[in-house]
Amino acid sequence: MDLGFVEKPESRCTLRSPFFPSKVGGFPAWLDLSQLPSSDETSCGVCRCPTVFLLQIYAPDDSNEATFHRTIYIFCCRNPACHRRNENRCYNVFRCQLPKANPFYSEEPPKEDSKQSVGVDLPGLAALCWVCGSSGPKSCGKCRQARYCSKEHQLMHWKNGHKGECSSGRVPQQQQHDFYDSSVVPSFLFPESLIVIEEEEEHNDDPAKTDEERMADYRAYVREKSEGVLDDDQLEDFETSQKDKVFMKFKKKIKKEPEQVVRYQRNGEILWASSEHVPNEVDIPRCQCGSERLFEFQIMPQLLNYLEVDSLSESTIDWGTLVVYTCGKNCSEGDPYHKEFIWKQDFSS
Ligand SMILES: [Zn+2]
Ligand SMILES: [Zn+2]
Ligand SMILES: [Zn+2]
Ligand SMILES: [Zn+2]
Repeated sequence: MDLGFVEKPESRCTLRSPFFPSKVGGFPAWLDLSQLPSSDETSCGVCRCPTVFLLQIYAPDDSNEATFHRTIYIFCCRNPACHRRNENRCYNVFRCQLPKANPFYSEEPPKEDSKQSVGVDLPGLAALCWVCGSSGPKSCGKCRQARYCSKEHQLMHWKNGHKGECSSGRVPQQQQHDFYDSSVVPSFLFPESLIVIEEEEEHNDDPAKTDEERMADYRAYVREKSEGVLDDDQLEDFETSQKDKVFMKFKKKIKKEPEQVVRYQRNGEILWASSEHVPNEVDIPRCQCGSERLFEFQIMPQLLNYLEVDSLSESTIDWGTLVVYTCGKNCSEGDPYHKEFIWKQDFSS
């Protein structure tokens, strides 16, 4: 199991595509630079507005040439009303991968000293929306410079100062607008930081109980509570104690590394926040290629502390855990950004 932690980058440059970052907030650092997901693909499944970038995890898979570089992207809606209990439709997940030899990046890792210069050239980068950093095929009809993913973001930028700069002809010259500029629409995107991934230290805790042990617990409970049949209240008590066990385990695991924002282990063990709304196999849709999707990583509630959503009265952006499932075959047919699946689980009420 690997854990992810939020960390200030030594240089903002390391958050850009050629450094293959795992990061939260700001613009996405796109891996394939030319063919980005369309605004239709990144729209919210509830309100249809564009979703904004939440985080990305760089997770190459060296068992296959095609996945020499590989990044998973998560987007979510900024509209508080779309964030409902155990509801995943306001999230979007994409997987992108590239072989070592590709049209965008040198086969050599970027030099240390280039970390100091922000002006790393990204040839082949598609036009990006100035507000959110997603694909920006539309441009402002007046200045023809400012680029947008959607009418919504054009309007947002207009109200946040573009009206003035556009009519006075003082639109800042953007060379390659791939870099998050928090002044375009203040506090709209999530604050930008690096995510560093570290191996979880082995702790000797008591191994999880087997089914037989749980059954023994149950029998002991029955014996303790009554000589015969349990009434409804007692059954409910037992159920509640089982529920609490899932949450207690969750809390216990987190306590060892309280700052963890991501738990990463492909096809590994998921740490559920609750015994409610746990998916069955049929709840995890197969990939478009027909393969089964496997658990890849989960996002922990600690991340919410970094998103500064509470102060914006958007406290409805919330989760117990967000569990990301990706194609078990890492298929690469079709567009470079492949839709994947996320499961949102809230804490028990
Ligand atoms: Zn929405
Ligand atoms: Zn946009
Ligand atoms: Zn304009
Ligand atoms: Zn697939």
